Amino acid sequence: MSKSYNDEYDHVYIGVDDLDDFYFGCTTYFVKLFIEKLSSSNMLTNIAFLDYPRLVRMNPAVPFKTRGNGAVSLFLRVKKDSEDKLISILKDLVQNYYEESFGREPGIILLSENNIHDHGIMRDYYWKAVSDVILIDHALRLLKKFNAKILSHGRGIVGALGAVSNFFIEGDCTYELIGYSERSSEIMISKERVILMDKLTRPYTFNNIDPDHKKILITPSLGKPVVFGIRGEDPKILMKALEILRPANIESTLIFKTNQGTDHHMIPRKISEARIYRTGLFEGVVSKRPYIAYGGDVFLEIKDPEDPDLRLEVAIYKELGEGNVVARELREGDIIRVGGSIKPLARLYGSSDMLLNAEVLEIIDLKKIFIQKNPSCPRCGSTMKSMGRDKGFKCPKCGYKDPFAKKIYIEVPRNIDVDKKIFKPPPRNMKHLTKPVSRYGLEKICRKDPVSLKNFYNIHKFMRNLMIKI
Ligand SMILES: [Zn+2]
Repeated sequence: MSKSYNDEYDHVYIGVDDLDDFYFGCTTYFVKLFIEKLSSSNMLTNIAFLDYPRLVRMNPAVPFKTRGNGAVSLFLRVKKDSEDKLISILKDLVQNYYEESFGREPGIILLSENNIHDHGIMRDYYWKAVSDVILIDHALRLLKKFNAKILSHGRGIVGALGAVSNFFIEGDCTYELIGYSERSSEIMISKERVILMDKLTRPYTFNNIDPDHKKILITPSLGKPVVFGIRGEDPKILMKALEILRPANIESTLIFKTNQGTDHHMIPRKISEARIYRTGLFEGVVSKRPYIAYGGDVFLEIKDPEDPDLRLEVAIYKELGEGNVVARELREGDIIRVGGSIKPLARLYGSSDMLLNAEVLEIIDLKKIFIQKNPSCPRCGSTMKSMGRDKGFKCPKCGYKDPFAKKIYIEVPRNIDVDKKIFKPPPRNMKHLTKPVSRYGLEKICRKDPVSLKNFYNIHKFMRNLMIKI
């Protein structure tokens, strides 16, 4: 009797986090090393990639986080008789390349699809991972429930499972093409080509350049081996962007499917659901005139429209750019939506121990503001004076009296452009998860997408020759 497909193959998820010091640089580099190791040990024939590698950003409000807060996951079809070898490759990678350093707690996990009976639990875990605090015990319980293999036991397992849980949601996604070189200091990215690339691929790529400072944003400050990262809507546009960019001496590129630029952490919440280190989007009524600190940071308070006792202190820092300027013009009674990270607050200011650090401001409704004025004299045009409460007005110049005249109300124009309703920080100050306004309308539903290795991994020795032709 021949073996069935199910007997011969297993579908497995691999999750990796807190390997920022891995070799040098960045958790994403693990994927490159992993592929090289698969190749050199003739394992590629026993493995199929059932999706792009995923780069999953976690809750940016959590204080104990890896640099950039990104974990990586893979979904593979593996021949059952090769699984032990796969595990030993993963273990070797940690032992041979990972240098232990203070505060690093790498987590590497492996889960078999057959063992994940409850996809709802994985989805819940994902939304918690991007917007709330997950304790290591919670992650461990789920890993046990799903009979996962834990190959490295650090706190990184929380993010590693977060990266795997991203495979279970059907939601918006973007892609990032990352270029690597171990000699990254020698690599020059031409500013002119980045500007051209941005012009030719926008809005299908995003956050390439900061519009105010004309600063190039695709080259990270992390240093080697990451040389650049281009973010966009699909792998094709990223390959086109790479062709336009023509970076010299890039050794390899990888394309990741990611939750960057999706606003997944902006979960609509009630003010009563505010907790320290949570993220969310809160709607409320401005309950105090904004306080503008020296330097321009704005502090205000919103209250729950249904329960005015529920209040939330909000900081709208200068980093929000235009949103900060608009926030200075807000007045009591305006209805707004603010989203961001909730941070602990020393009880020096206000009465709350929480402060929402806003990264988005939405204007829902502006209260009409009126000023009272005395009526003008119909005879000479001067401003009349009151003759006492309910006794009418008298003109001080010509003596005209009107016992029925009343104060008039004039609507004061608000200094806020009502056509523009959503304010986000400039790209240079954006969190990885924040959706740039240029992506509004480009959202899509992303599902698992089997790919061959050459669709997302490229070795680029030839790029050197391309550079000479420019
Ligand atoms: Zn008069």
